[in-house]
Amino acid sequence: MQQICQLCLKEKTICESHIQPKFIFEWLKETSVTGYLRGAESPNMRMQDGFKQYLFCKQCEDIFGKDEKSFSEEVFKPYVNEELDDWGSATSKIKAFTHEEWLLRFVIGLQFRHLLMVDEKFVEKVGKSRYDKLRINQEIWRQYLLGERQDTGAQNRSYMILLQNLAFASGNFPPGLSPKVNSYILRATDADVTFSKDGKMGVYSKIGPIALFTTIVPKQVRGLGKAVIKKQGAFPVVQHLDDKSGILHFIMVDRPKEAMDKIDISEKQRKKIDDAYKKNEDRMDTHSVKAQISDQILADSLDANGFDESAG
Ligand SMILES: [Zn+2]
Repeated sequence: MQQICQLCLKEKTICESHIQPKFIFEWLKETSVTGYLRGAESPNMRMQDGFKQYLFCKQCEDIFGKDEKSFSEEVFKPYVNEELDDWGSATSKIKAFTHEEWLLRFVIGLQFRHLLMVDEKFVEKVGKSRYDKLRINQEIWRQYLLGERQDTGAQNRSYMILLQNLAFASGNFPPGLSPKVNSYILRATDADVTFSKDGKMGVYSKIGPIALFTTIVPKQVRGLGKAVIKKQGAFPVVQHLDDKSGILHFIMVDRPKEAMDKIDISEKQRKKIDDAYKKNEDRMDTHSVKAQISDQILADSLDANGFDESAG
């Protein structure tokens, strides 16, 4: 298929691309009780196997692929396999992820692909001026990914928030937690452009227990200083984030409710899942079951007032 590649903008043969990185779906399948994906693990997107689209030429696919491989091997796999135990609880085995620019490139590549999915209808939601800002950022990120500029935009920052099972975490939980919060935090893949009435806007992605956020307006997210992604360095695993901006509330409360509520499994799909459960009883001891059990543990241990029953 000859068409314009969305990264290099040249007319080329276009291949089928995953919007979300492939490794996340491989991991979800490996650690899921049924051995295949359910809507609950990709609640917000049309994706059975990672939502594919024809977008880029082979050369540009390889540009994304290189950064994805580094991220998968140097951050994602060590985080889900070593730092988190089977319950998704942090073990403190890893202090930091040493990285080069591939970390920022991976995040910008992911956010860029999500922005490509934003269509004209978005103007109605956010207004023309904010929509234009999105498109300006998209063009800056396109140039950055091609190595045509050194910065990702003077007015933005990217953040990586490493999540873990709340049933084992200490500290104050935000009020109104969804009963499915752990299933969302540990397992869900999600993406959205976030915007608020007072003009804030950013691009949010989540791949399993790692949340990524890139600001568009304003430049910084207050309280997330420890989670800023630099071009290179040692990214700390223990973050001590302060939720001045409300982003953690968004990840732990708002988003699980919105995203998990959207899950609409048909009767036919439900039957397929039930059959797969029966066939896979030896796989019951897997991450997806543990995330669900943890939601129950957390529900039992939380003060009834801090728990929003209506969200279930
Ligand atoms: Zn290309």
